[in-house]
Order: sequence, then structure tokens, then C-alpha cells
Amino acid sequence: MNYIVVDFEWNQSSYGRRVNPHIPFEIIEIGAVMLDEDLQEIDRYSATVRPKVYKKLHFMTRDLTGITQEELDRSDPFPYVLVDFMLWCGDDSVFCTWGGNDLVELQRNMKFYHLEDLLEGPFEYYNLQKIFRELCMPDQQAAALETAVDFLHIEKNLPFHRAIHDADYTARVMQKMGAEKIQPLYSVDYYQNPKTVEDEIYISYDKYAKYVSREFDSHDAAMSDKEVRSTRCIKCGCSARKKIHWFSGKSKTHFCVAFCPEHGYILGKIRFKKPDDQRKCYVVKTLQFINEEEAAAIQNMKKEIVKKRWEKRHHQSAATRDKEDL
Ligand SMILES: [Zn+2]
Repeated sequence: MNYIVVDFEWNQSSYGRRVNPHIPFEIIEIGAVMLDEDLQEIDRYSATVRPKVYKKLHFMTRDLTGITQEELDRSDPFPYVLVDFMLWCGDDSVFCTWGGNDLVELQRNMKFYHLEDLLEGPFEYYNLQKIFRELCMPDQQAAALETAVDFLHIEKNLPFHRAIHDADYTARVMQKMGAEKIQPLYSVDYYQNPKTVEDEIYISYDKYAKYVSREFDSHDAAMSDKEVRSTRCIKCGCSARKKIHWFSGKSKTHFCVAFCPEHGYILGKIRFKKPDDQRKCYVVKTLQFINEEEAAAIQNMKKEIVKKRWEKRHHQSAATRDKEDL
């Protein structure tokens, strides 16, 4: 298996031109470095793309990347470059990116040109930004690529923000961190979300587990599903008993706290996601170990929310009564 360390440059709407919601960011450059299992370089790929939706190069993109309008105008269109790139990647390869959004936008671009069949999802990939944080800067926010390059004392011999340069730096960051450390820390891209029970995604790390469900008609339907509600211990897999049952917090995220007699408190979180162009929803559930104080904080959060909701209802019904009295 090969690693494809890939970076894209994007163009967007200029001068108040309407944004096309199907393709808010349009790929104008692909740069990639192919590494073998020991992270040794095999080959590299670089191509600019002639944009179709946002033909004019946004001045910020131009200034940031140094790409010129002339360069884009004489480039091949996206379908041509993409097919060429995917053939170069080969069948037995896994994408590595700096950050988690690029592959989502890539798939939006592909969908726009009806090329989504060339990349079957959900698929595993490596988010090097997340992995760098986990291995090198655990208490920090997501770092810029240049921060990682500085932190790992990598020579800065190329300007940043050209796709092939950023892919090159990302590949060197990977080499510094080492294949063994990186390998277990894969992510799953679920832009093409699971449609059946068999396709549902389960990922587990040391202290953290993730589940991505199939689609449901509504939030309520999702929340009444046994698998969605389940809280199995991340370590031993036992059905950890709930100490605090699922409740909805701010912005519709649901929380619960379960307890494994052997491994302690587990915080459950459920977020609802909407597939592009669809009314249905699916669920991303995470389970992670927390300590007793953190469990107590969740208990307090639930109390506050229940109290506020009660007050609101009470207030509303009082207002209705007042109206009826008139
Ligand atoms: Zn356990």
C-alpha cells in the first residue's frame, strides 16, 4: 500500500458573484507525493486545473499561491486532470492530507462533474494535522502546516501554498513522525455516508471510539434506535450502564454518561449530520473516557437545561392562561 500525500489549491467566487452551493470551492491545483509503506518517496504529481465555475482567479488565492490567471487558462479542465490523477494514485493507496476538509471538497468537485464513482466512500485516510496534534502538540489547537514544519526542524526551502510544495512539506512531517506512530491513527471520510447497517462505521482508538450510522428519517427515529443509543465500553466492550440518560444540549447535540465497573466513566456524544442534497439524517456518535468531575459537570449541565426548559414551558403556559383570561 502507498500513501498519497495530497494538497489542493482552491478558487472561490470573486467580486460578489453568486456562490454555487454545489461547489463552493473549485479545485485549481493538485499536488501529491507518493510514499511507500516506509514513507520513502516513490513519485510526485503536480497539475493546475482550468476552473469552470469561478473562472476568474480570486485575488486572495492569487496572492496566497502565486498562481496566475494565464497559468489556469492554459490548463486542462477538472475531469481530465482528475482522471489522470486517480490513475496515477493506483488502486492500493490511501490519501494523507493536512486537515479534514480537502477530501470533502474534492468529492463535491467530483460530484459536480458526475465523477463520484472514481472514489468509493466511506474510505480511510490520514489527517496529518490531527495526527501531528495528537503526537506532538496534544494541548494545542489545530496547527498550520508551517507550525509543524518549524516544530520538527524541517528546512523551509520552498514557498508555502503551492499544492506540490505543501504536499512535499506534509510528506516530510510524516517522515519525521514515523510510519509506525502514524499508522493506527487513521480517520474515516464519510462524505459518502453509510446507507445500510452493514456499511455503518465503527472506529476505536485507545480512549476514544466513533460510530457513524446509516440514514434515518428524523432525529427522533435515530434516537430511538438501539445501536445509536448503545454505550459499549471502549476498552472491554461491555454494555456500560447509563448514569445519565441521553439528553439534548445546545445545538441539538445529545449527551449521556455511562459507567463501566472496570474502566470508569464514559461520555457519549451524538451529533446529527445531513447528507448533501437530502432530507434524511445520520448520526455520528463518539464515546470517550472521562473522570468523575467531568461526569458531575455533565450532570449539572443536564440539570441547568432541564430547569431552563421547564421555566420556558411554565412561562409559555402562564402566558396562554393570561390570554384566555382576557
Ligand atoms: Zn470496560
